[in-house]
Amino acid sequence: MLKIDAHTHILPKKMPNWSEKFGYGDFIYLQHHKKGFAKMMRGNQFFREIKENCWDARVRIEEYEHFNTKVQVVCTIPVMFSYWAKPLDCLDLSRFLNDHLVDLVKTFPKNYVGLGTVPMQDADLAIEELHRIKKEGLAGIQIGSNINDENLSESKFYSIFEACATLGLAVMVHPWNMMGEKQMQRYWLPWLVGMPAETARAVCSLIFGGIFERLPHLRVMFAHAGGSFLPTLGRIQHGFDCRPDLVAIDNPVNPKSYLGKFWIDSVTHDPLLLEYVLKLQGSKRVMLGSDYPFPLGDLEIGRFIEDMHLPPNVKEDIYCNAAAEWLQLTKEQFEK
Ligand SMILES: [Zn+2]
Repeated sequence: MLKIDAHTHILPKKMPNWSEKFGYGDFIYLQHHKKGFAKMMRGNQFFREIKENCWDARVRIEEYEHFNTKVQVVCTIPVMFSYWAKPLDCLDLSRFLNDHLVDLVKTFPKNYVGLGTVPMQDADLAIEELHRIKKEGLAGIQIGSNINDENLSESKFYSIFEACATLGLAVMVHPWNMMGEKQMQRYWLPWLVGMPAETARAVCSLIFGGIFERLPHLRVMFAHAGGSFLPTLGRIQHGFDCRPDLVAIDNPVNPKSYLGKFWIDSVTHDPLLLEYVLKLQGSKRVMLGSDYPFPLGDLEIGRFIEDMHLPPNVKEDIYCNAAAEWLQLTKEQFEK
């Protein structure tokens, strides 16, 4: 059975030192300090160490063979978004990352599908880049759960979503720039608590802001099984019912009616939670995802799903049908 991993991250092995090039800012750059490893530096500060499976296309394909998974949907690491930078500089950086993905997808069309990045802080530039990556063969974009702390429901972002819907580009929403990060530095809380909350913030913003209502053909996927949105949907629904004066001010439609209209990945680390989200979303809207190659990801690429004894048609939906529909690709294009 074809397996498509809908959530993985990749970087080019070599990137410019954008801080030097632009003369400001803590842009990410790589220090290749020993064979097979690199330090991601944010300005002069160490951010994290990455291994060659973060940039080497062939190493990645080999690692995936162990898990019988052929296709990786690749996008950059959210810390690369650089939405805080001057818009033209962010466009320059985005184009560099997108060109790397375009090359990768052209070289390994049966193994990689690319999701680009765009300068969300400037809708005109973002849309210009959307047109370019569409022409170059990327399947969509990855965006942050907030844009410089602003919610995705802000009207300034609407034209970007509209362009994605018109161009038929898929959108992946990934948590980043976590709310409360400064106040919860210990225990890895920004990743364990902030990230799921960020994703719920993004889902709620797109629902309550009426974006899904106005753009029914927009195809959006939320990382990490939608974060805390689905597990707290009862509360969100109750809030919508009991205080419509606060919640339903921009969209009168019941939040539960959007279940099954957006996609999520399977990154739950929990069969019980996966069963629950499958019940809510339906198997056509839940995709195999791993967050490879990072330690908080499901680095056995869905082995827990294999152990769940789901019906074969449900497994096939999770492994490939849901992703093929989200990305508007055919399964045949990945066959030999
Ligand atoms: Zn991720």
